[in-house]
Amino acid sequence: MSDAAAALGEVRARIEAAERAAGRPAGAVTLVAVSKTYEAEAIRPVIAAGQRVFGENRVQEAAGKWPALRAEHPDLDLHLIGPLQSNKAADAVRLFDAIHTVDRDKIAVALAAEMARQGRRPRLFVQVNTGLESQKAGIDPREAVAFVARCRDAHGLSIEGLMAIPPADEAPAPHFALLKKLAGEAGVAALSMGMSGDFETAIAFGATHVRVGSAIFGARPPVG
Ligand SMILES: *Cc1c(COP(=O)(O)O)cnc(C)c1O
Repeated sequence: MSDAAAALGEVRARIEAAERAAGRPAGAVTLVAVSKTYEAEAIRPVIAAGQRVFGENRVQEAAGKWPALRAEHPDLDLHLIGPLQSNKAADAVRLFDAIHTVDRDKIAVALAAEMARQGRRPRLFVQVNTGLESQKAGIDPREAVAFVARCRDAHGLSIEGLMAIPPADEAPAPHFALLKKLAGEAGVAALSMGMSGDFETAIAFGATHVRVGSAIFGARPPVG
């Protein structure tokens, strides 16, 4: 077994334990295995071990490696978890089954137009910048509920849930709690929150999708 396939088993076991500890049903949490920066050869053993849901943060990178993997495995479920520019909306709609990073009207408009044109409907999450970090994507939490309503009513998009990346230097729990509260107010069910360092906490706060990369694939080289 590859190291990544073994690590996948450990992460799955930890997710199941966290579901139990939170009194949530088994299978309540979807593991999105974040394969960014890893080549297809590193991903194949994880697919062979049964993982079907994967996350990538760059449209171009995903376009390079996923079409071949999809041809081998038509049942893969590919999620975009990185920032989206409107000029990449066509590629994103073509490549991904879910997009976690809808965060402004311009993107919502571009996605709606592409979804109509291509007849594909990826599931959509609104990214919320819970820490109000200037360098981070995501809508201001004070505008999130109105934005979800606008996506639905003005742009014709059905929003499945909210997504957040808490600030790296803060305890994540208050951010997870805020995202859950906003999802309740916005009337959406899914919560994409929790990464390698904090996915068990996220599950305790109601995460339905955890995005786990390095705990499965290993440390990534530092980004320049
Ligand atoms: C890279 C990334 C992850 C995974 O991070 P790890 O700490 O490696 O688990 C999750 N979410 C987003 C948005 C990412 O870019």
